[in-house]
Amino acid sequence: MSTQKKSIVVVGGGVFGASCAIELVSLIAKTELRSSVALTLIEKRDMNVFLPATLRMAVEDHDEEYMKPYDKLFAGYDDIGTVVKGSAAAIEKDARNVVLEDGKKIHYDVLVLATGATFGAPSSPPTDRTDMIAYYKNIRARIEKSKDIVIIGGGISGAELASEIKDKHGASKTVTIVHSSNLPGSGIFPENLRRQLDKIMQNLNVITIYNAYGDDSEDGQVNVTYKIGDKKSKTIPADYVIKCNLVHNNSSFIPQEWLNKDGQVKISDTFEVINTSNVFAIGDINDFDEWKLASQVQSARPISAANVLSAVKGEKAEMHYATKLIGIGITMGKRYATGSIRLPIFGDRVLPGFIIRKLKGDDIRALKFAKILGY
Ligand SMILES: Cc1cc2nc3c(=O)[nH]c(=O)nc-3n(C[C@H](O)[C@H](O)[C@H](O)COP(=O)(O)OP(=O)(O)OC[C@H]3O[C@@H](n4cnc5c(N)ncnc54)[C@H](O)[C@@H]3O)c2cc1C
Repeated sequence: MSTQKKSIVVVGGGVFGASCAIELVSLIAKTELRSSVALTLIEKRDMNVFLPATLRMAVEDHDEEYMKPYDKLFAGYDDIGTVVKGSAAAIEKDARNVVLEDGKKIHYDVLVLATGATFGAPSSPPTDRTDMIAYYKNIRARIEKSKDIVIIGGGISGAELASEIKDKHGASKTVTIVHSSNLPGSGIFPENLRRQLDKIMQNLNVITIYNAYGDDSEDGQVNVTYKIGDKKSKTIPADYVIKCNLVHNNSSFIPQEWLNKDGQVKISDTFEVINTSNVFAIGDINDFDEWKLASQVQSARPISAANVLSAVKGEKAEMHYATKLIGIGITMGKRYATGSIRLPIFGDRVLPGFIIRKLKGDDIRALKFAKILGY
């Protein structure tokens, strides 16, 4: 008599989803659960997009090197793990199915949501391999042929992109950043770090327009409106406008009652979705109050995997998550970098660029993540 295997479904194969999925299958493989549990990873893209490296990919061709398919993720564990290409369109919470855009239903006993967020260019490629490569080629070609580039949104990604372009192309391009705050980044980051980002952009001759909004409704120019004071609106030339900000959390398929007002999934410190059983949310999609960074995966992965495994066994999730390190490393082209770390007593300290460059390497750790995918 054959019994149905218990099914873990992970939706989203980004930094957190892929890392948690491989951790889970390798843990399952070591136990008697190997013959009774199956894990399905649902991912909408043919290849993984490692977001931290996408700003470098806007100026240099690393398409094949950094974007890897999922075919080797479960190598050696093919009896446990399967990758399904598809976009989750709905969750039937009573029947416990994830419904894909093509109508296919995938049943789960334990569900892990890891769909992250959608950001502006150059971090939102399409889903098919050839289109993904064409997307980056097109961005690079547009940057190459533009003289005046305007980046709308001077969060850390916008500042990083402006610096990548200037570092690569120098005086041949005018790069202007329009940002709604008085310094790059947002108020959640330490002021000394934001000042350092500003300083690096000045060194690279990025033009910064702060406390302002940019609107590219006019072809070939951006209308800039200042937020405060009596500074008059103005227009600036723009051959290429790049919107570089958070667009939305990827949660449109998730039941409303699991979400907060920003579209993030409400969780406890065990990664369990509030008021559900056997549903977890990891990475950028959850509302855990910390800087949303790929680097958090190091400490989040073992805890989320252990708790998911407990749920599979019908046990209580016992592992509690807390942010271990409050810090960030930011590359600003190849020559500059900065970062900060929060220390007891001393508070937030800015780190020298050479340390960040060493930690992140020339590939901004894209190759390290490719290893997780089996490459
Ligand atoms: C430009 C940029 C630069 C960054 N730089 C850094 C950095 O230097 N250091 C750092 O630590 N962090 C950095 N971050 C943050 C970091 O990339 C994120 O915190 C991290 O990627 C979050 O991982 P995740 O798995 O939650 O989401 P993602 O990595 O975004 O993965 C989500 C996955 O879900 C898939 N997906 C989405 N919707 C669906 C659906 N409906 N069905 C199926 N699949 C779906 C997506 O295709 C994607 O593969 C950066 C982010 C950006 C945007």
